Amino acid sequence: MNAPVFEPKALWGYFSALNRIPRPTHHEEAIRQYLLDEAKRLKLVTVEDEAHNIKIIKPATSGYEHVAGVILQSHVDMVPQKTSDKVHDFTKDPIETHVEGEWLTADRTTLGADNGIGVAAILAILADDSLQHGPIEALLTATEEVGMHGAKGLQPNWLDGKYLLNLDTEVEAELCIGCAGGVDILANLPVSYRPLDPSLPQYTLDLTGLAGGHSGKCINEQRGNAIKIIARLAAAINQRQPIQLVRLVGGSLRNAIASQASMQFACALSLDDIKALLLPVFEQIKAECSTHDQSAHFTLAASETPSEQCLSEACQAQLLQLVTASPHGVMRMSLA
Ligand SMILES: [Zn+2]
Repeated sequence: MNAPVFEPKALWGYFSALNRIPRPTHHEEAIRQYLLDEAKRLKLVTVEDEAHNIKIIKPATSGYEHVAGVILQSHVDMVPQKTSDKVHDFTKDPIETHVEGEWLTADRTTLGADNGIGVAAILAILADDSLQHGPIEALLTATEEVGMHGAKGLQPNWLDGKYLLNLDTEVEAELCIGCAGGVDILANLPVSYRPLDPSLPQYTLDLTGLAGGHSGKCINEQRGNAIKIIARLAAAINQRQPIQLVRLVGGSLRNAIASQASMQFACALSLDDIKALLLPVFEQIKAECSTHDQSAHFTLAASETPSEQCLSEACQAQLLQLVTASPHGVMRMSLA
């Protein structure tokens, strides 16, 4: 795209300019320089912090100095992805774009609309002298896509505005009021084993078919967590007849809701008895789960590779209690 063909022209003009500047994460010097130069051209004050975030200050227009300040935020880096047949060096080559109907797309690479369109919108506002507004701070954050280093490096009191509009969303015509935080917990539980009675039958319980999904984006949908569900199934069997847990695994990614889990255990009950015992419990769990999870199911089979040892009694109890007590899903909704 050489000349903007869409409206508003200022925004698309900036987006076009941004696409000529390679800006994959960790290669952001050129885009930062462009932003500083553009602010200078617009006669606006800029500040860059140690995390390479850039702040551009657009003072209030006359008569609006008392209005609460607004911070407009976007990140300057983009995700560099391409198809295998496309020759493209994201650190050197401009993004090649073309118009398809009413859409602007890239030629077999990511377009950089995340978050280039936000940066372009901010620049268009900064460049527009016809607007009447209170104090505006443009906050252009660095290195978002890998580790959010810019946002994490923001220093307290660096910004004066009262309201922050983050212009990095994925759904058109939707405004999200609120925020979500994330915490990673790495827990280590020392494991001890004991010999397993070889006369006891061993089973493998596989739980699959849950929807899973992104642990941030989908967390409000109360989707079931396979690890917690399998621990609940284990507890249900254990209540009837003690089990000896050999193995419990589940989940795949740190930021994905676990959609499958599996456990191996020994138990004096027959396979049919365990199934009959689990079915109503599982139906109850599914009824509690979101509509997305209704194809969840479990299979129970005799273990193909019986183990000679299982977790010690104390260790097994601790593990199941730990999983049961670990929070999952929305703890509390804002009533504001
Ligand atoms: Zn983004």
